[in-house]
Amino acid sequence: MAARSLAAGGAGLQAAELAIRAAMTRLGASVLEQLLAADGGHRGPRATCSAGHQAEFVSYRAKLIDTVLGPVRLRRAWCHCGQCGHGLAPRDGELAVQHASMSPGLRAMVARAAAAVPFARAAGLLAELAGITLTTKRIERSAETDGQAASAAICAQAQAISSGKVVPLPPPEPLPDMLYIAVDGTGVPMVAAAAKDRPGKGPDGQAHTREVKLACLFTQTTLTEDGHPIRDHGSSSYLATFEPAGRFRQLVDAEARRRGAAHIRQLVVLGDGAVWIWNIAGELFPAATQIVDIYHAREHVHDLATLATRLLRASHPDWLADRLDELDAGNIPALLAAGRDLNFTGSLARERDKQLAYFDTNAHRMRYAHFRDLGMFIGSGVVEAGCKAVIGQRLKLSGMRWNIPGATAIATLRCQQASNRWEEIWQRPHNQTPRTTPATCQRQHTQTAAG
Ligand SMILES: [Zn+2]
Repeated sequence: MAARSLAAGGAGLQAAELAIRAAMTRLGASVLEQLLAADGGHRGPRATCSAGHQAEFVSYRAKLIDTVLGPVRLRRAWCHCGQCGHGLAPRDGELAVQHASMSPGLRAMVARAAAAVPFARAAGLLAELAGITLTTKRIERSAETDGQAASAAICAQAQAISSGKVVPLPPPEPLPDMLYIAVDGTGVPMVAAAAKDRPGKGPDGQAHTREVKLACLFTQTTLTEDGHPIRDHGSSSYLATFEPAGRFRQLVDAEARRRGAAHIRQLVVLGDGAVWIWNIAGELFPAATQIVDIYHAREHVHDLATLATRLLRASHPDWLADRLDELDAGNIPALLAAGRDLNFTGSLARERDKQLAYFDTNAHRMRYAHFRDLGMFIGSGVVEAGCKAVIGQRLKLSGMRWNIPGATAIATLRCQQASNRWEEIWQRPHNQTPRTTPATCQRQHTQTAAG
C-alpha cells in the first residue's frame, strides 16, 4: 500500500516537473524574443554582401529560429544586393544564425548529442531530456554542418602552423618528459559511392570501407613504483582524417607543434607497422623513438602460429607461448629463426615469409625490453582503446553506412570532445560557414555528396 502511494506520488511529481519545465521554457522563449527585439538590426541604408557589394536596406523581415527554449521569432533589417540578386540580414551574421534555422546554443546541443549517439537516438534524447523536438534529418544536417566547419577550421589552422605562419606557445612549465604520437588506421563502413574505385576484399572485389587515419598524442612524465609509465591525466588529444597520408602528416605536424614537441625531451611514435606511418615519423620527427605497438605485433605472432597449426600439432600452444615470450623480450632474431624453421612449401611458405618480413623490417622498433628499461609505453591498450572508442563506437555500429563528409564531421566532433577542445568549435567566428574554407580543405568536403 505504502509502495503504491509512493509510486503514484512519484508519477505526480514527475508530471509536475515536466509541466513546470514546459512553462518555464515558454516563458524563457518569450524573454529571449523580447531581448532580441531590442535590436532591429538596422545598420544604416547599406550593408556589404558576402561578395563585397553594397546591398540596400529594404524592410524588416521575420525569421523563425529554433533555440534551446523552443522557437523564437527574430525580426531584423533585410537588405538586397542588386548585383548578386540575394538578400541578407546583417543581424543574422552577428547572431551566428546566417544560413541556419537553429540558434548557436541549440546547434551546440545537437552536435553534442549527435556526436555521442546515432542521429535518431539523439532526436529521442533531446526530446526526452530537453523537451526539444527536431527531426532526425535536421539533427544530422546541423551536426554534420558544424562538424565539417570544425574540420575545415582545424585544416586551416594546421596549414598556418605547419607553414610557420602561426607559432604555438610552448607548453607551460613543468615540461612533460615524453610526448607520444600514437598512429592507427581503421576502416569505416561506406555507402557504395564513397567506396567506389577502391580495391576491396569483398566477393565483388569492391571496398565497402574507407580507412580513417587516427592519431592520439599524449604526454608522460612519471612512472609507477615498479617502473611502468603513467599517461599524464587529461593529456590526450585526437585527430582523424580520411584524406591521404600527406594531409594527415600536416595535421600531425601541427598538433605535435601545438603540443610543444620542440620543447619536449623525448618523442615516441607508436604505430601498427604500416609503412606510411614510419615514413611520416621519419620525416617529421627524425629524433623520435619508433615503436611498433606490441598489441599489433602480438597479433602477427598469432597469425604466424595459426599458419603452423597442422605442422606443430600438439606442440602448437608451447610454440606460440615461446614466440610471444621472445617478442616480449624484443628478441626478434630468435623469433625469426624459429619462424624460418617452419618447414612449409608453396603458398604457406610465401605466407610465412610475408609474416617474417614484418618482424625483420620492424625489428629495431620491437626492442621491447630496451624500451621498457627506458620507461616507455611499448603500446598501450589505453591508446588503442581511445582511438577505437573515438571512431568505432559511433561510426562503426551495425548497419551504418557513411559518406566522407558526414563521417569526417562526426569523427571531428568526437575527436574535439575526446581532446577536451569542444568549446573551441563554438568560438570560431566562421563556424557554420564552410563556404569560406580554403580550397584544399573544401575538396575533402565536397568529394562525395552521395548518401
Ligand atoms: Zn552581392
